[in-house]
Amino acid sequence: MNTLTGITIDGVTGERMKFCDICNSRMKLSKKGYVCSKCGNIIQATAGLIEVKKIKIPESEPISIVDDSRKNFPKINRICPNCRNPKAFHWFSTVNGEHAGVKQERTVEHFICTECQHTWTITR
Ligand SMILES: [Zn+2]
Ligand SMILES: [Zn+2]
Repeated sequence: MNTLTGITIDGVTGERMKFCDICNSRMKLSKKGYVCSKCGNIIQATAGLIEVKKIKIPESEPISIVDDSRKNFPKINRICPNCRNPKAFHWFSTVNGEHAGVKQERTVEHFICTECQHTWTITR
């Protein structure tokens, strides 16, 4: 009877029995993984727990939307001054400035390195 009950509990919680590889006593499952209550040894959690973490990552990634919008810019051959990567995203913007009392619209070329995300501009 005792044996049967033990099996049922393990089946319901989904816990797999794990024994400490140092002192051989039974380990408890925690957020960190399997923790030995006797000597404090920690063994990484099961593949099941790691998968749960992986699923959560894309949900909390609104930053990647910004990166995606950058990818809409055309790529041109331009050597990154930071990492020497020969490709960069490229677009133009205009700024209104005054030069020697004359109002001027200036064109600014923007570059973002496709490798290291280094950004730089050239004003025409
Ligand atoms: Zn131990
Ligand atoms: Zn770069």
